[in-house]
Amino acid sequence: MADVISFGIGEPDFNTPKYIIDAARKAMDDGYTHYTVNAGFPELRECIAGKLESENMISADPKDEIIVTSGGMGGLYLALRSMIDTGDDVLVPQPSWLNYVSQITLAGGNIVPVPLEPSDGFTLTAEKIAAHLTERTKVLLFNTPSNPTGRVVPQEELEKIARLARQKRFFIISDEVYEKFIWDGRSHMSIASIPDASDITVTVNSFSKSYAMTGWRIGYACGNREIISAMVKLQENVYACANSVAQRAAIAALTGDDGSLGVMLKEYASRRKLLADIVSNIEGLKIVPCEGSFYIFLDISCTGLNSEDFAMGMLARNRLAVIPGDAFGPTGAGFVRMAYTVGSESLIEGGNRLKAFISSLN
Ligand code: PMP
Repeated sequence: MADVISFGIGEPDFNTPKYIIDAARKAMDDGYTHYTVNAGFPELRECIAGKLESENMISADPKDEIIVTSGGMGGLYLALRSMIDTGDDVLVPQPSWLNYVSQITLAGGNIVPVPLEPSDGFTLTAEKIAAHLTERTKVLLFNTPSNPTGRVVPQEELEKIARLARQKRFFIISDEVYEKFIWDGRSHMSIASIPDASDITVTVNSFSKSYAMTGWRIGYACGNREIISAMVKLQENVYACANSVAQRAAIAALTGDDGSLGVMLKEYASRRKLLADIVSNIEGLKIVPCEGSFYIFLDISCTGLNSEDFAMGMLARNRLAVIPGDAFGPTGAGFVRMAYTVGSESLIEGGNRLKAFISSLN
């Protein structure tokens, strides 16, 4: 369709900062065009260990507790494949990112949804997780800040989840790709920094969102050395190593800051405010508290349409694309997800189209 404004896919619209691109160009000229060790360049793992120590309070030995992967998706998949046996249950709080469901299925696991409800703004609690434990629960897979709801799990709840995991003997995969996108003075906390969870958690992260590097396919994971060693073996057999040039670029991303990360975050923060203001001023619409990530989860139940008819109708009539909320799990019914990964002009025009669509329903 022509003239569509998309609040659909959550992909940073910024280009990768120039200092990172320059480092990649230099890496190619310098001959970094070969396979690397399976776990990733030792120098990069050291930089990641330093970052984990100073920003996440996670202590991980770069020698054997960190693996550089092909994006966060690579880390998630290698972790799932290494940790679960066929038929093991994997708890997934929902609404959740869609790929969790497909990756768990591909790894032979059984998805056990932990339904989060609109009535309390999709709040994740240890109590809700406990209610869905089974004999075969092997792993809890969750993300904070959340895609798609934008909620952030507070420290005291993370502590309860860590305690539960220790007591009930299940592992945690903590997807933290949105860690930098956290608003209103909140700060990100990694569950692996809590002693109860430190040796039973695999933390997955990525350069995709924080440094606008989605196409580079570069990320990392850290955790217990037995699990990381299995992930390294698997990586060797599937695609050998993460892209060599992207690994050099990742070193630059972590070691040299030209201020662009701060500029991007400031821009996202102002877009979030702009879009939240626009939708809050449309009668009947309500938003889930957007504490983190770059999504707004919007309650459209006042329109009487289901999420898909709302999304398809608005796309056809007003050329604005959003994602139906129940695509992320049944409790997302009556919601749509909007990504503010477009500039403010498009946000304002998108807001006008949303308003026009809603008025056309009355
Ligand atoms: N986790 C979540 C929750 C995501 O939304 C995404 C990207 N959309 C990823 C992981 C993976 O991103 P990448 O593989 O590009 O690092």
